[in-house]
Amino acid sequence: MVFSSNFHLSSAKKPERSRERRVISLSRFGRILIGVSIIFCSFGVLAEEVLRTQKHKVIDSDISYMVESSSLSAFEVNQVPDQDWVRFDGAINFGYTDEVHWFKIKLVNLSRAAIPRLLAVSYPLLDTISVYLFSANQLTHSYATGDGLPFDHRPIDHRYFLFPLEFSSEQEHFLYLRVQTEGALQVPLALWDERRFFAEDASANAINFLYLGVLLIMAAFNLMLFFLMRDSSFISYVFFVSCIGVLMASLFGYTYQYVLSEYPRFHELLILLIVPLSQVSICVFTIRFLQLPQHSKFWSRLLSSFIVIAMLSMIGAIILPYNLSTRMSVILMLPIAVSAMAAGVSCWGEGSSSARLYTIAWVAILIGATSSVLNRLGLIGSSFFVEYGLQLSTGVQTLLFSLALAARFNSERDARMKAQQEYVDEIHKRRNVETQLVYSASHHEITGMPNRLLFEKSVRHHFEAQKESGNHLLVVLLHIRRFDDVNKTLGHRNADVLLRRIGEQINTVVSKSSDCLTIEEKKNDVSLVAHIEGVSFCFCLANTNKNDMLDEVESLVRRMAEPLEFMGLALELNFLVGCSFDGDDVDPQILLRQAFVAFDKADQRVSPIAVYEPAMNPYSPKRLTLMTELRTALEHDGLELHFQPQVHLTGKYVCGFEGLLRWTHHEFGVVPPDEFIPMAEKTGLMKPLTAWVIKRAAKFCRQLDELSCDAFVSVNISALNLREQSFSRQVCEMLGEDGIAPSRLILEVTETAAMIDPEGALKVLNALHDANIRLSIDDFGTGHSSLSYIRRLPVQEIKIDRSFVGDIVNNKDDETIVRTTINMCHDLGFVVVAEGLEDQKTLELLESLNCDIVQGYHIARPSSVANTVNWLLNSEWALRRPVELTRLQS
Ligand code: C2E
Ligand code: CA
Ligand code: CA
Repeated sequence: MVFSSNFHLSSAKKPERSRERRVISLSRFGRILIGVSIIFCSFGVLAEEVLRTQKHKVIDSDISYMVESSSLSAFEVNQVPDQDWVRFDGAINFGYTDEVHWFKIKLVNLSRAAIPRLLAVSYPLLDTISVYLFSANQLTHSYATGDGLPFDHRPIDHRYFLFPLEFSSEQEHFLYLRVQTEGALQVPLALWDERRFFAEDASANAINFLYLGVLLIMAAFNLMLFFLMRDSSFISYVFFVSCIGVLMASLFGYTYQYVLSEYPRFHELLILLIVPLSQVSICVFTIRFLQLPQHSKFWSRLLSSFIVIAMLSMIGAIILPYNLSTRMSVILMLPIAVSAMAAGVSCWGEGSSSARLYTIAWVAILIGATSSVLNRLGLIGSSFFVEYGLQLSTGVQTLLFSLALAARFNSERDARMKAQQEYVDEIHKRRNVETQLVYSASHHEITGMPNRLLFEKSVRHHFEAQKESGNHLLVVLLHIRRFDDVNKTLGHRNADVLLRRIGEQINTVVSKSSDCLTIEEKKNDVSLVAHIEGVSFCFCLANTNKNDMLDEVESLVRRMAEPLEFMGLALELNFLVGCSFDGDDVDPQILLRQAFVAFDKADQRVSPIAVYEPAMNPYSPKRLTLMTELRTALEHDGLELHFQPQVHLTGKYVCGFEGLLRWTHHEFGVVPPDEFIPMAEKTGLMKPLTAWVIKRAAKFCRQLDELSCDAFVSVNISALNLREQSFSRQVCEMLGEDGIAPSRLILEVTETAAMIDPEGALKVLNALHDANIRLSIDDFGTGHSSLSYIRRLPVQEIKIDRSFVGDIVNNKDDETIVRTTINMCHDLGFVVVAEGLEDQKTLELLESLNCDIVQGYHIARPSSVANTVNWLLNSEWALRRPVELTRLQS
């Protein structure tokens, strides 16, 4: 055998100059185009690569070509002299040319046996290809086929052009190929042992079908994802992968072989349209996938314009000559591929992680395409990866795209979920804050019990229903007495804890009453009591019988007053209670205010429970009448000053009288001073009223003098009097009018009054003191001041409030308070007066406690001047005369 191991297509001599230029230019152009189009159009090349690497081609070769200027028969061609043929070197690839080319290959079979071979032209898109074999100048084989002809024209039913030939022994053979095509003129030739060819072809098919199968699965899978997720990126991917699949199948020759074998025209059209369609799909997918409209207007616009161009070239493919339109679409491939990749890089630069995968996918294509081109140009050797570079790279690309798509979808979904979660969290937070706000707006900050607002709301809510069932509503206000002592003794924090305990206790007691209405209902507990302010609580009862309700209140209050165990102490709770019944209509605010008005009237000594009456109301018509008539009463001697004696316990003699205002109204009867003094304060009457009282007191002193009684006379002054800088001078003048020494007068000031403007009050008090007028602190223990403050005042006397004195015989706490007050006051040099002495037992106790002076109904009730004089003349107390005027101890 003298056949060389490879079937070479080589030229022995250089072609003629003019022709050479043309051929080379064509060839170069073709190569560039092929390089570009290789991405999609080089299956033939790859197929040839597969065949060529086989080491079984045992035919020596010698190839040359010529361009057919006029139609020639095979016989005429066989006669063309050698010099008219151009020797050729390398693969047959003339790019786009519509000229008819003849190729001549000289083959010699030096063996003694005939060699059957299969001539394979592994580029399935040639329009017409004719093959003639002359053996010893005899035409032994002739075939004509091409994809411009129906498939059944092919000598062998195969996607490539296969021609069975037999090279007879010890002969020279001339193989002629006539090729004419509108596409790229590339004729990858190989001579094969038939069995070998089909064996190789089977594995090539397997790889190709695997490849196409992968594409199909990817398309189907993403189509399913599209239907599941409704994200248009998936459908653009399906479009893209389908285009690539159809394009590759067409280039492999499968579409013609299996689908359009009967319709060469349709096949041609498909080949024309599939390239621009693939380009459209690449652009659409890139725009959708990279979300270019959001990320980069520039790339978005550029790729959109490529879509328009590609679509125009689709139209062009139908109306323009085949040659031109295929060139156009192949040329367009380059900028599209570059732009798509650049857009990926740009988005990657902006930090998009899916753009990274996208760009890597393009790099895979680039590597695949480049290696194919380099291999075709003979710059790198053949290997599986090079030969199947395009399948591998497009396969990898579609896989990576799909992965990137999934990654993007995932990250988008994560972001969406995160955003949703954040939104939900935000709503929760806002709800919590709102709930918190609503809660704190409707609950007391210390006890957490419903507050005034919630209480009013619930009263309003209950009113209609209760009215329908014929019930009356009763608002009950509870005020804890002397809670300040707790504050002072236990500290505020403990006092807060105690307040909560008290709240709970009240709620527990009230919950036993079937009349009590619910204010708030929570999961595990029901609030029946509201914490209105400071030390005031409220609840609401409903019943048809008003008296029953009041009895109920009394019994509840009694139960609430049971001692409370706190920090090892048994604390006894004292309540002042104000009640208010609803009327025809209900305004919870008014009911509550009325309960407050009533509570003001409640008196620990008389009854701690007061029920509101319109007369109590500071804005009632009675009030308004009284307010206007007080002035008239003052101006027209409608007022009286009554006197109540005070007895010195050491000498058991009358040592003083307290002047107390009385007003008997012609219509309303006796108006208590507690009611009209605040009115006088409000209407600017306090100054003339005090002046009137002092004048009366001075007159009374004169009368006492006449009875040889040199007792002191005390009068009450208001906080407003302590604001007058000239008060001391005025007092002295008034006393002077009756010739009474200032030292005979005692002015009683409540500690609260002295506290309102401590500095201003101190000045006035000092001036009074300087004028020899004695000062006494009234109602001691009910205000907020401390002894240390009172020590700074120029006072000589302390009057313990009657609320402490009244029950000292029975109440140990009160007794302790009175005892310590007396002792401390004595230590500080104060005279101690106990008010509200109502019985002998108390007198004896006070005596044993070393109280200096007592005043109260047990001695005498406050009475008119005439009655007082009468009393003085007859009283056992008055009979004892003091040895000397020693009211003051120190
Ligand atoms: P106050 O200065 O604490 O007067 C003592 C009050 O206790 C008087 O009430 C008196 O009637 C009452 N009282 C006396 N002994 C007893 C007793 O044994 N048991 C009980 N339960 N009460 C007793 P009144 O007269 O209703 O005066 C009430 C308040 O009105 C006085 O409290 C005083 O703050 C004010 N007030 C009275 N007159 C005047 C006045 O002329 N000027 C000023 N600014 N306020 C006055
Ligand atoms: Ca007084
Ligand atoms: Ca008093």
